[in-house]
Amino acid sequence: MPERSQSSPERRPKAPHSNTKIVATIGPASEGRIEELILAGMNVARINFSHGEAEEHRRRIDVVRKAARNLNMAVAVLADIQGPKLRMGKFANGPVELVEGDEIVIRQGEGPAQEGEVYFKFDGFLGPMQIGHRLLLADGAVAAEATACEADHIRAVVTRGGVVADRKGVNLPDTDLAVDLPTPKDIADIEVARQCGVDMIGISFVGSAEDVEKIRELAPEPQMVAKIERAIALERLPEIIKASDGIMVARGDLGVETELERLPMLQKMLIQSALREGRYVITATEMLESMIHSSRPTRAEVADVANAVLDGTDAVMLSAETAVGKYPREAIETMVRIAHAVETSDGYNELPRVEFRASEPTFSNAIAVAAVEAAEALGLTKIIAFTETGNTVRLLSRYRPRAEIIALTPHQRTLNLMAMLAHVRPILYGRDRNLEDMMFNASLFLQDKGLVRGGEQVLFVAGVPPGVARTTNLMKLHRIGERVRFH
Ligand code: PGA
Ligand code: MN
Repeated sequence: MPERSQSSPERRPKAPHSNTKIVATIGPASEGRIEELILAGMNVARINFSHGEAEEHRRRIDVVRKAARNLNMAVAVLADIQGPKLRMGKFANGPVELVEGDEIVIRQGEGPAQEGEVYFKFDGFLGPMQIGHRLLLADGAVAAEATACEADHIRAVVTRGGVVADRKGVNLPDTDLAVDLPTPKDIADIEVARQCGVDMIGISFVGSAEDVEKIRELAPEPQMVAKIERAIALERLPEIIKASDGIMVARGDLGVETELERLPMLQKMLIQSALREGRYVITATEMLESMIHSSRPTRAEVADVANAVLDGTDAVMLSAETAVGKYPREAIETMVRIAHAVETSDGYNELPRVEFRASEPTFSNAIAVAAVEAAEALGLTKIIAFTETGNTVRLLSRYRPRAEIIALTPHQRTLNLMAMLAHVRPILYGRDRNLEDMMFNASLFLQDKGLVRGGEQVLFVAGVPPGVARTTNLMKLHRIGERVRFH
């Protein structure tokens, strides 16, 4: 097969690669094998500050940074802070089964709760709770309705039975609680995250734009990812999206605060809302839940990951699957394969693109639109962007071009941030004195890496003068190997 043996590096069989990014939560099951997980396709390491001590978080962040450096690959670190998560106190005699129709008394405190009682560890609910308000216990396993609201306790009747246990989650979707972000624990955790130089902070239970701004003040460097998981956040979505750099469709708590059956359409709405504003979006929770114990996903899970990609998500997330599951590598590989299969289908390429954002009449945005269209018209497979802040690359990414966006930056921080963006391959690459040399040398460099072929047509996006942030102002069509002369 002489013809075949001449195939370019592009055509060599290789492990599938997905344009959709993979966020994996680091825990005991993954900490010792980070390099393996990066090679499998992990783009973002999520450190869950709801569990564990500061020392553990620091160590894990360190391990991720070292692995990324060793492999010379772009990996972002997302510190996910707990926020005002509401929890129950303790039960005197272990887990309790509540049955529909049971009367329960809710008190404030640690417990231990006797028969017929439940303690809420947090305060501030005794005033604002009213008759008829829903109480969702143990992450929605049990539902109850308030029937009497006294000064020191609430009476409620169980409307959906199930098991409650020590420290399980509580959601009060109808009650206007003064849940303040950040909590004292959050403030301490944010400081740890800031010292570790994380790339992004995931803020749980965001209720307003102000919440995001408060966290940003405490840690001005990292990007802010607002986790959308409260009913109130849906009401204030536009302002929250504007205040954030990205959002997470946090289906776990959102499915409790709203209704499970609303999740699929909410997911689509949230993803499109984020994209329209030029923000990135992560779809999270129970994506491959069965892979905590099984090396193969269920059909329904495969469809879920595929549908999130079709909905336009930048990234899909693994929680317990990679933190404590038996098959962390397989879970990541499974996501990559599913995303790859969707991305290479005709249906994916026929999806409508987000519209040109008239609200952002900037050079960067205009160049991004023009580059995507030009690449399409010529059937180019690569758009090569020189970027300082990653801003233009973010705008390119939101149009989800068929061509891969190769994003070259001399800054480690920009490199890490771009690991989150769909359709973007971030590469650390220094600057030359002038744009002509930069384009010529970068093409040789990418040819060396097997990412482009000699003579191939590509499209460059850049700014002059080079090395200055927020100056994207030109695109150039180029044939790899040819000299670049602007005068
Ligand atoms: P969590 O957030 O896993 O930190 O609760 C995600 C979610 O609620 O879906
Ligand atoms: Mn949550």
